[in-house]
Order: sequence, then structure tokens, then C-alpha cells
Amino acid sequence: ATPVAVAVATGRGAKEGLLVRDASAFERMDRIGVVVLDKTGTITEGRPTVSEVLPREGWDRDHVLRIAGDAERGSEHPLAHALAAFAGGAKVESFRAVRGGGVEARVDGDRVLVGSQAFLRREGVEVPEADPDGVGRTVVHVAVNGVTAGSIALSDSPKPHAREAVAELHRQGAEVFLLTGDSSSTAMAVAQAVGIPADRVFSRVLPDEKADRVAMLRHPEVGVTEAGGGRQRRVAMVGDGINDAPALAEADVGIARDDRRCLDAVLWVARTGAAWPDLPGRLGNGNSQWRRFDR
Ligand code: ADP
Ligand code: MG
Repeated sequence: ATPVAVAVATGRGAKEGLLVRDASAFERMDRIGVVVLDKTGTITEGRPTVSEVLPREGWDRDHVLRIAGDAERGSEHPLAHALAAFAGGAKVESFRAVRGGGVEARVDGDRVLVGSQAFLRREGVEVPEADPDGVGRTVVHVAVNGVTAGSIALSDSPKPHAREAVAELHRQGAEVFLLTGDSSSTAMAVAQAVGIPADRVFSRVLPDEKADRVAMLRHPEVGVTEAGGGRQRRVAMVGDGINDAPALAEADVGIARDDRRCLDAVLWVARTGAAWPDLPGRLGNGNSQWRRFDR
């Protein structure tokens, strides 16, 4: 049996609103026991800004920022948007984005990598352990021709109503989890800020592994949590619909929106369990489009 109810397959689709794959999903929303929230853009605003640049010895701060910005010009990632603002207009060739990792590009002939510690290490770059004391901030590392040039910390605030939304979901009896590719210190800080318990935080999860975590939560007897009871629990996943498409599809109900209303949407369906055709009206937003989605 296919458990999937609602899913979003493409970034383009996500930009148009929520895509509904199976209308019966929303009839089951009142029995959702677990809500999994993506971090970037779901709990947080999704508009990170550079808060600190730490060049390695011998590197100039502005230079590190500029090459990182140039390397990120071709990426759609929220972190990339923040960094690309500092681009210097260098010639960029052979750009490559690695989902959940970072980017690689030739910037004025130099091989530049920007991304997580794990990504740079996979690419054979030695990254010093010491992070900036960036609790709650995302730290990306910059390497030029195989050598680290520095680190850049970016902060992305939780949405103003995120804490209240999590509290409301708890009042409804749901368990709320945080799922992110970011580091555990950043994930923990965000979780704490919005009231998600520390033992319900999954960090450093690659895009393709996010679906596995959702599957584990649906089947707690083989999975990672003993909370909640029951052999199978209905799981709702809320994400950006781009990186998270497999996880959204794995959940009983997947909800993707490209804007800040996604938490409102899950809250509303959690409260009412109403059928999907009513949702756009109830959200009071003429711009959302809802449609059937067939994989
Ligand atoms: P999230 O789960 O918050 O949506 P992602 O899975 O998109 O995060 O990314 C996980 C991590 O990979 C980021 O925290 C960052 O360290 C790194 N990363 C991904 N894409 C980029 C990028 N374009 N530039 C720099 N770092 C990136
Ligand atoms: Mg994401």
C-alpha cells in the first residue's frame, strides 16, 4: 500500500503553492501523531545573513567573502543567496551544486569549494575542527585549490510565530521533530528557540536520508523513538519542497510551501482535519494554488 498522501516533486511546483497528491490525506490529518519540520525556511525565515567572516591566516576577509559569493552565484540555496550578495564579478566556470553539501566552481581559474565541513572533507580538504563560536549559526567553509581559506557564519532567525506553532501542535498531542542537514549545534539552538525537545532533533541529515528518518518515525518499532506508542503512526512532514521532496513523499502527509505560511498551513490542517478543497479559502490567501499531483 502506498502511504503517500501529499507530495511536491519539483521546485517549480513548490513555488506555486501546495501540491496535493491524494485528497484523502487531509481527511486523515486529525490522526497525525508526529509532525516533522524542516529547519531552513520552515522554522526559520529562510533568509540567512552573513554574521561573521573568519579568514584563515594569510587570507583577507573581503577576499574570502568575494570568492565564496562568486562560487555561489549559480546556486538556488538560501545560504547561496546570502553569500552571492558579496560576489565580485569574477569569471565562474564549471559550477556544480551538491545537495546538502555545498558548491564547487572555478572562480577566475581557482577551484573553489563552499559548504559544510563534511562536504569539504569528502572533497579531500582538511578543515580545522574549531568552528566560530556560532551557536545557532550555520557555518560554511571556503576552500581554494584544496586549502581552507576561511569560514563564514550565517544566521537565520526563527519565524516570529514558530514557537507558538510548535506549542499548538504539542497541545494537539503531536510530537514535533526537527530535521536538518545543518550541524547539531545549530539545530539544537533552533530547536530550543522554538520549543522542540533535544531528543527530537535530527541534524546533519543528507537530503536523501531525510526520507529514511520519516520512514523510521512512521514505524517506531524499528526506528529511533519509543515515544507515541502504536505500531504505526501517521507522520506529517513540512518542508521547502525542493531538497525535501523525497521526505515529503515518504510521509503520510507532506506539506510544502515556499513562503512563511507553511507553518500556518500545517497548524490549520492539524486543528481541523478538513478536506483539502477548503484549505485555500481557509488560509485566506488568494495566491495559493492547490492541485492534484500525480507522480
Ligand atoms: P537544511 O536541512 O537546513 O535545508 P541543506 O540540506 O540544504 O540544509 O544543507 C545542509 C548543509 O549543507 C548546510 O547547513 C550547509 O552547511 C551545506 N550547504 C548546502 N548547500 C550549500 C550551499 N549552496 N552553499 C554552502 N553550503 C551549503
Ligand atoms: Mg532545506
